[in-house]
Amino acid sequence: MGGLYHGRILLHWCDSCHTPVLSDTCSCGSSTRAIPVTPPGDARPAFPDDIAFVNQVYEEQFGITLIAEGHLALLNKVPDHDRMEEIIVGGSIVGAIRYVPATNRWEALPRPDAALISKPKKRFMVVDEGAVQSIRDGRSLLAPGLVSCDPSVREGDEVFMMTPYGACAGVGRARVGAEEAERMERGQVVKTRKNIPSEFVPGKSTWDDAVKANRDVLLKAEAASGKFIADSIAPYERLYKSVSYSGGKDSLATLLVVMKTFRKTPILYIDTGLEFLSTDENVEDVTRFYGLDCVRIPTVDAFWQDFESNGPPARDNRWCCRTSKLEPLRQYIDKHHGEIVSFIGQRKYESFSRMKNPRVWRNSYVKNQVCLAPIHTWTALHVWLYIFQEKAPYNTMYEHGVDRMGCFMCPASDAGIIERIRTMHPGLWDKWDMKVKEWLHKQNISKSSSDRDELEMTGESVE
Ligand SMILES: [Zn+2]
Repeated sequence: MGGLYHGRILLHWCDSCHTPVLSDTCSCGSSTRAIPVTPPGDARPAFPDDIAFVNQVYEEQFGITLIAEGHLALLNKVPDHDRMEEIIVGGSIVGAIRYVPATNRWEALPRPDAALISKPKKRFMVVDEGAVQSIRDGRSLLAPGLVSCDPSVREGDEVFMMTPYGACAGVGRARVGAEEAERMERGQVVKTRKNIPSEFVPGKSTWDDAVKANRDVLLKAEAASGKFIADSIAPYERLYKSVSYSGGKDSLATLLVVMKTFRKTPILYIDTGLEFLSTDENVEDVTRFYGLDCVRIPTVDAFWQDFESNGPPARDNRWCCRTSKLEPLRQYIDKHHGEIVSFIGQRKYESFSRMKNPRVWRNSYVKNQVCLAPIHTWTALHVWLYIFQEKAPYNTMYEHGVDRMGCFMCPASDAGIIERIRTMHPGLWDKWDMKVKEWLHKQNISKSSSDRDELEMTGESVE
């Protein structure tokens, strides 16, 4: 991974303000410390629904409330087979959650600091004092080092290894269940996970405090984006300018930054008819709040037309982007302007592949649109803090466990996120499932479970 990574981890923590800071100095004057998150390090705030969800997963597995009330928490997406997120509390990575598609469930992967927040009530082992140092050094727990094992432990479980005095020696995966562990005389009981130490300093704070702590950071980021716009717009100055607005946080931050330069810039929204209700509402809110012109390009008919011939889009058959977005956009520009400039909320920290993307480009399919990415160098946390600072109306879906706007059934989504959307918005899925069923029926394909697996658009994240 090291060779692919071209960004710098910007995420730090201020132990005086108890907030994340995207710089080595807090606006309060204190020095901050770096948080060793996994690259690309695009951490975002945990909203109340995220916190409830993380706490539920940790409660079920360990009887722990991982994120205590009044504490800020961040989630950092880690490259994984499906969806995995590190959880940052008190400036430490206290654990992760991971979606396991095979069992269709979310799993908690704690770090030793989680035991500082609250002691595990299940899925723990007590280890002999003599074994503690070797566990801390990353070696596995062997049978002679085990004192006792909580009866809830099954083979393959994530477990805490606690000292007789109640401190955490390490975490890892149980090789055997509780009964066998107690019976064994030799061999490996727990495969220890190597821990990257990070310091846990708890303390209450709010997102308003975090905005204050990042005041200088945000001023700098805003100025740099303004300078980018000023430096790159010259060759396209005569063209029609718009902000490509998706209803997502990145396009909102882009709009905010662009308005600092151009005041009222029209927004361009491609309405695929497959958006969350909250996205349509957000487009209206933003248009009204800032008194903007909104060009809405409806593409729903084109989607269902192509659906008839192509079937539901899938990971390896993503015809939908071209049908629902690129082609209608190209036609719109052609008909009304000939050529336009669009400000787009693309960011390099979103993924490793985005790191390599240019900041000014033309899509090979929409050559009549010059794209500029003013917030290319921002992380998700810059975006959120800036939105909070500007008190901008953001899409409420973010508060309900969805971190990626756009078509709800997007085949590029992680299975874990699709599963959460399914649970939270059964109405959306019932309608979608019905359409898929109808199509399958027409194709005369029996919906055997293997077909269903193929058609459920799951898998790892695609950029
Ligand atoms: Zn501070």
